[in-house]
Amino acid sequence: MIVNNSLDEVKKRENALSIIKSIVEIEGRSSLFDLTGLSGGFIATPSEISLLETYVGPAIFEDALQEVGIDHMGGEKVLPLNRTSSGILATILTLVKKDTNVVHYLAQLPAHPSIPRSCKLVGANYFETDVFEEFSIPENTSLVVITGSTMDHKVIDEDEFKKVIEMAHEMNIPVMVDDASGARLRTVVFNQAKACDLGADIAITSTDKLMPGPRGGLMAGRKDLIDEIKVKVNQFGLEAQPPAVLAMLNGIKNFDGDNLVKSFTRKDELFDLLNEKFDNFDKTPTGVMISPEGLNTEIDAQHNLSDNDVAFLFSFILLKEHGIITIPAVSMPGASATIRFDLSTSDAFNLDLKDLNKKIESSFVRLQEVITNEEKCREIVFNS
Ligand SMILES: *Cc1c(COP(=O)(O)O)cnc(C)c1O
Repeated sequence: MIVNNSLDEVKKRENALSIIKSIVEIEGRSSLFDLTGLSGGFIATPSEISLLETYVGPAIFEDALQEVGIDHMGGEKVLPLNRTSSGILATILTLVKKDTNVVHYLAQLPAHPSIPRSCKLVGANYFETDVFEEFSIPENTSLVVITGSTMDHKVIDEDEFKKVIEMAHEMNIPVMVDDASGARLRTVVFNQAKACDLGADIAITSTDKLMPGPRGGLMAGRKDLIDEIKVKVNQFGLEAQPPAVLAMLNGIKNFDGDNLVKSFTRKDELFDLLNEKFDNFDKTPTGVMISPEGLNTEIDAQHNLSDNDVAFLFSFILLKEHGIITIPAVSMPGASATIRFDLSTSDAFNLDLKDLNKKIESSFVRLQEVITNEEKCREIVFNS
């Protein structure tokens, strides 16, 4: 085993960032291909930047974000946060008491780790399922959670979405929707309604997923609940700071759904190319992916690495040899180790898919070569 715990994950991330830095310094930004689908960005004019003071910034940009954010998310009020995870934590801190139940329905396990972790922190009992027939809401439930689109971009069925909200509201229980990527993926590609329009009390999206914004979270929903949650957010420093708020505002304004729709068709071409060599790639709405288990199955050689280790290693080889950024190398602890090639953000628009396919194939050849040498694998992941 190479990556064993959260500390190892922090270390591999540091190594990935230092590889990215050296590629930018030596070859330039154009030699990097961010295919994570979280390519972030900071769109701002010099005159906007000059307003980024502690109190002037929020006065101008938080106000503007209300209108633009509500237009994007629905609901009565929005609240900008440091991350989606911050919004999930703040909602659970506010609405969930010790020893109560939190139940979560999502299209496919696993849930984002911030949900069970936040429940653990407040001492609540947490239940999750991806089998709709098995979903039920027990007595003494304080919060119902729905994930609109999972970390691997598995999108919920809209009828099931409505049904879960109905069940919760019959029992007067609030519903929080983790709509990190779903707020755009569900609505633009799958023509579903906004979570708040479906009746969600709170919905949170990630402002760097499938849109040109900064890492951050944007919460929308019922004004009374948002006001309560905002107290916790400010008490614990979970709010977005003025620079992030500005970039969120401009990121949403520059969000172009057509790019998502284009990647929806281009992914078929990449999938067909990859299938000439591999058996375990799957399509996502805006790209392709291979699970850690699937990737390990492709490997012929005998080795002692875990499925996740194989995924981390592959992600590092793609980065080091071809400048291709995928999530496992750069992710935060506990994130999915699935390798996803997302075609929805700007680095992917001009990419020749035949060339990308060749790079993926040659990285896989390299992976097979090094995998039996654990020492070498460790060096690739940790640079030690
Ligand atoms: C990315 C993601 C999150 C967390 O977003 P952060 O901004 O990293 O906190 C939560 N839930 C889902 C489904 C996600 O995909």
